[in-house]
Amino acid sequence: MSDKVIAKRSEDWELIPNLLDYGSAREHFTWEHERELLQGGKVHGLNIGYEAVDRHANGERRNHVALRWLDRDGAATDITYGDLQLRTNRFANVLQQLGVGRSERVFALLGRVPALYETALGTLKSGSVFSPLFSAFGPEPLQSRLSIGDAKVLVTNVTLYKRKVAPIRNALPQLEHVILVREAPTQQLPPDTRDFNTLMDAAAETFSAVETAPDDPALLHFTSGTTGKPKGAIHVHEAVLAHHASARLALDLHPQDVFWCTADPGWVTGTSYGIIAPLTIGATMIVDCEEFEPERWYGILRDHKVSVWYTAPTAVRMMMKQGAALAQKFDLPALRFMASVGEPLNPEAVVWGMEAFGLPFHDNWWQTETGGIMIANFLSQPVRPGSMGRPLPGIEAAIVDAGEDGSLSVVEESGKEGELALRRGWPSMFRGYLHEEERYRRCFRGDWYLTGDLARMDDDGYFWFVGRADDVIKSAGHLIGPFEVESALMEHPSVAEAAVIGMPDPVAMEIVKAFVSLKPGVSASEDLQRELLAFTRKRLGPAVAPREIAFRDNLPRTRSGKIMRRLLKARELGLPEGDTSTLEGGK
Ligand code: AMP
Repeated sequence: MSDKVIAKRSEDWELIPNLLDYGSAREHFTWEHERELLQGGKVHGLNIGYEAVDRHANGERRNHVALRWLDRDGAATDITYGDLQLRTNRFANVLQQLGVGRSERVFALLGRVPALYETALGTLKSGSVFSPLFSAFGPEPLQSRLSIGDAKVLVTNVTLYKRKVAPIRNALPQLEHVILVREAPTQQLPPDTRDFNTLMDAAAETFSAVETAPDDPALLHFTSGTTGKPKGAIHVHEAVLAHHASARLALDLHPQDVFWCTADPGWVTGTSYGIIAPLTIGATMIVDCEEFEPERWYGILRDHKVSVWYTAPTAVRMMMKQGAALAQKFDLPALRFMASVGEPLNPEAVVWGMEAFGLPFHDNWWQTETGGIMIANFLSQPVRPGSMGRPLPGIEAAIVDAGEDGSLSVVEESGKEGELALRRGWPSMFRGYLHEEERYRRCFRGDWYLTGDLARMDDDGYFWFVGRADDVIKSAGHLIGPFEVESALMEHPSVAEAAVIGMPDPVAMEIVKAFVSLKPGVSASEDLQRELLAFTRKRLGPAVAPREIAFRDNLPRTRSGKIMRRLLKARELGLPEGDTSTLEGGK
């Protein structure tokens, strides 16, 4: 382990929570003040990369560890803010030399390795747009995202490239530059690709972050809807105000903290809070290249004196399965705050946190489109197990009734279920779905952004998650569009039609289950079931592919031909079927 001093343990410094009194924090909060905190009052552009890296590297935090990277064996490599500045400067210069311009899109398909962080932050500093891809995606989700996003540059590694990108490269004519990280020096570079390290070594170490305007695009995050292709949510540079404010207020991050966000940067949480937010605070962030393994995780919390930990309900449930006794074996005096996001956090999980770590998990809520945490249980406020918490200062949330006719009314009655909506205008609000203006417009009613989630609000203003208003599936924290999975199944020659739903699962919350009707003359068999599972896994990757496939003679459809996934799910689970008046052939 490096001998550089990382943040002191929280025991050693006097901790005053960033948000002490909820009411007065809301009353006094302004986004203008947040802007001043970041730029020190200077008015010259607003660039996420500058705020995350250069602001600290140019000041007294230059030698503070920004990123502590843990390799497979758990060995640590420390990267200071100063180091990170030079590395991200180099990458920004690489992009400039390749002629990659402002607002052009640079994608990354990498595991959690330092090159990923250099790519993300260097891209932002250069004024180009960064878009992360999840490394467990198969070729099809990659192709659709790279092509919707008009990717000009892709940074990946040799293995991922050969397995997943080379087969689709011809379908991506706009992809001009593929830059590969070699996992071993002996690896040969495939044709038409460039070596990451060679480009970095040849690039200059000085670069002045491009003075992007607050509304210039910075990030492109893909998310899934019920129908159609994945949606590319566009975020702008001023989103950094919300990253910084929410890290301070919802995660109580201080510059002295060692922060660990366990989410992969292939998803929005892993970018907003696994790259940007902790760096804007000047904290030290832990990056582990490996996947979940309880003893490894507890060891990381202990050995690296993690003080603030941001994780996900699926991981908490997996830890619960192993029992609190295992966690209790690890002495974790530095750990002072734990938060969770991405799916409903069961009240038992909050309580289990107390048993295992002596701390509750603080649930918070947000989504790709909101860019940052919107609703949270705060450190200084009592946790309500099962509730997502209350809106952050600067954020107005409500339960609304959005009628089919375009009307909207705010539900005043506490405890009544409706759609969760946010008053538009916060800095990390998405500014569009790439190439899909109409789809974007449909998310808003007047001043309100409709989140697609159903929720309730209690008398004290705490929000309680009820479910999704649509058919999107949440599995192990990942949002999966049923249409993407159905489309892959339909490519198999035996499949006539397919419908995909989420089935309840005690650990992953939901698993993807597909119902398939076969073409005439094809008969259902276990072999075909296995074949379809393998077929979709190869195309979609393990994060998206169905875990179960069942055959049906026909699937319920509306008279207009849309598959009624909701009805299928109700039937599967033995729940009330609801309104079936539009069902083909009547009830
Ligand atoms: P994503 O855009 O992939 O981050 O997924 C966002 C969706 O995850 C939300 O719209 C919710 O449906 C769900 N979600 C996120 N956080 C929570 C939470 N704390 N409780 C319940 N559901 C959540």
